[in-house]
Amino acid sequence: QADIAMYWAKEKGRDNAQFFTSEMANIVTKKFGFEKEINDALALAQFSLVYQPKVLMEKANILGLEALIRWNHPTKGRISPADFISIAEESNLIIKIDEWVIDQALQQQKAWRDQGLRMVPIAVNLSGRHLVSDSLVSYISQKLEVYNVEGYLLEIEITEGVLLQDIQRCIEVMAELKALDIKISVDDFGTGYSSLSYLKRLPLDVLKIDQSFVEECDSHIEDTKICETIIHLARSLELRIVAEGVETAPQADMLKSLGCEVFQGYYFHKPMEGADIAKLLTVSPVIA
Ligand code: C2E
Ligand code: MG
Ligand code: MG
Ligand code: MG
Repeated sequence: QADIAMYWAKEKGRDNAQFFTSEMANIVTKKFGFEKEINDALALAQFSLVYQPKVLMEKANILGLEALIRWNHPTKGRISPADFISIAEESNLIIKIDEWVIDQALQQQKAWRDQGLRMVPIAVNLSGRHLVSDSLVSYISQKLEVYNVEGYLLEIEITEGVLLQDIQRCIEVMAELKALDIKISVDDFGTGYSSLSYLKRLPLDVLKIDQSFVEECDSHIEDTKICETIIHLARSLELRIVAEGVETAPQADMLKSLGCEVFQGYYFHKPMEGADIAKLLTVSPVIA
């Protein structure tokens, strides 16, 4: 596994992206046995989801959840998504993984509904390759029907990079997701290259301030200013803001003073197993 990651890191660093077609990516992943590993992982239920709450101002006010994938490999132990998602993204394998995540999240929603829990949306992270594919919207609407779950209970997080690749196609797909009542967040906002005009043209709902800016927002004036600017930008584009990776009270206090209201991070809640989330969702929020 580490070998594959290293191989890819090197390829990427060589600035030869234009030679690196998805066809070649498929060949390489096959060659390294990565494709078989992923297929096995799906078949043998080695993947699981953990859920990290997003809160409104306070720990107790859970507004939503983000699903994060975990790979419990039989011999290599727990593999972090950082170590396999980017490899999977180079081929169509990511679509299989993303579809598994969507299915799992909606199945979880159905289970929680059946248990009578307070229902909040689950956001899934989707690869750009999947967003612009023909199959995403039909896959989602089919699964919403299968599990009898309303669209508002599913949300999508997407990183900035993809938004630039095929803006027209993104607009189309996002409009279809909107029609299903599914909200869309831009993940890791500020680390990509979204131009302001793209942000305006896309039917987005939320900007998630990247944790790299949150980390020192209370101690480095540059980071404070970046957070402030992103918050103001979101406000003028009528988007909501979520700060991610909030680890300390001073960070949360600074972000609150800049006008941020929704938080995600270890300071509030770590990603948790579904069973632990269920315990939190049996209680009503402090603020309705
Ligand atoms: P992301 O979507 O930006 O998720 C945030 C990451 O930060 C998660 O790492 C989360 O566990 C971690 N995190 C949350 N709060 C804190 C905090 O207070 N401090 C710090 N230091 N970290 C915090 P994770 O689960 O390892 O996921 C890493 C990335 O892998 C995600 O970044 C996302 O881009 C990708 N990913 C995770 N699950 C999936 C998935 O199901 N599908 C796809 N396509 N990508 C996924
Ligand atoms: Mg995310
Ligand atoms: Mg993020
Ligand atoms: Mg990230």
